Amino acid sequence: MNTYDVEYLEFPITHLCSLHCDGCSAYANYALSNMVTLEQAEVWLTSWGRRVKPKFFRILGGEPFLNPMLPQIVILARAIFPQADIQVCTNGLNFDRHPEMPFLLRTLNVGLFLSVHSQDKKYLPKVRAAIDQMQAWHTNEGIRIGFGDNIHNWNRFYKGIGEDMLPFTDADPKASWEVCHSKHCVNLVDGRLWKCPQIGNLHIVGEKFGLGSKPEWAPYLAYKGLGLEATDKELVSFFTKSTEAVCGMCPSRLDNYRKDIQNVRFKMPGIERLEIASEHVESLENLPEVLREIGIVSEVPA
Ligand code: SF4
Ligand code: SF4
Repeated sequence: MNTYDVEYLEFPITHLCSLHCDGCSAYANYALSNMVTLEQAEVWLTSWGRRVKPKFFRILGGEPFLNPMLPQIVILARAIFPQADIQVCTNGLNFDRHPEMPFLLRTLNVGLFLSVHSQDKKYLPKVRAAIDQMQAWHTNEGIRIGFGDNIHNWNRFYKGIGEDMLPFTDADPKASWEVCHSKHCVNLVDGRLWKCPQIGNLHIVGEKFGLGSKPEWAPYLAYKGLGLEATDKELVSFFTKSTEAVCGMCPSRLDNYRKDIQNVRFKMPGIERLEIASEHVESLENLPEVLREIGIVSEVPA
């Protein structure tokens, strides 16, 4: 077995989130309770660390700050991928859960990336406070930070919601892959590598909503990604493949829309949720000004 250089690997360490973004690629809007333990992270990262060396390794969720083991997982990731550009990707609303993180980010040279998800008036002060905090960490402690726009270019990749979810039926997987924002986002979920978060987390949301009983989902739930038993050849092929049959579940044309970030139907005890009434939502016309005002760059890494 050899170790292969790969460009990018994502590791979702929880499916809990303090936002509820309709269309979340990790299905974290559905209050899935999965939480990667330190023991799981150790086994999965150690074993995959012998097979792949990612240039860019992203720890995300759900909201990674809701995982009580985030600091230990960051330490582990740095030990296993000493050369990688490692980044924690957050919504910024739960920094108080891990006051030790700035120290770790600085000493382990791990970046922090915040995505802005909405322009509603109740959410913006909270995310702005997080942005100010990150800018202070950058200025005072040299922590690498980044910001992304998850408002524009937000697209649906399945139809319906919750138990009514259905895959697209455009029947053009190549076209779906070509327009896809997640086409290079290999995910490590349940100890296996998956083409993208949408397919990697499908079995988890499928279990919650009984999607296995719908024949439309059968070909997609049958996909199992790549396990450690894969040969070197299979591993290389997995990372170099473009379109796969599973891309057929996604739209072949993207439909930008304004997503809902509220907890509408899925309650989650113990997590602070933002309750935002529709009258607080800014008009879309004001959005570019709002983003500029809070200093958000418009580019999101591919
Ligand atoms: S902030 Fe929104 S997009 Fe990000 S993980 Fe949470 S629900 Fe998903
Ligand atoms: S299945 Fe294919 S098209 Fe759909 S999100 Fe994943 S990579 Fe993109």
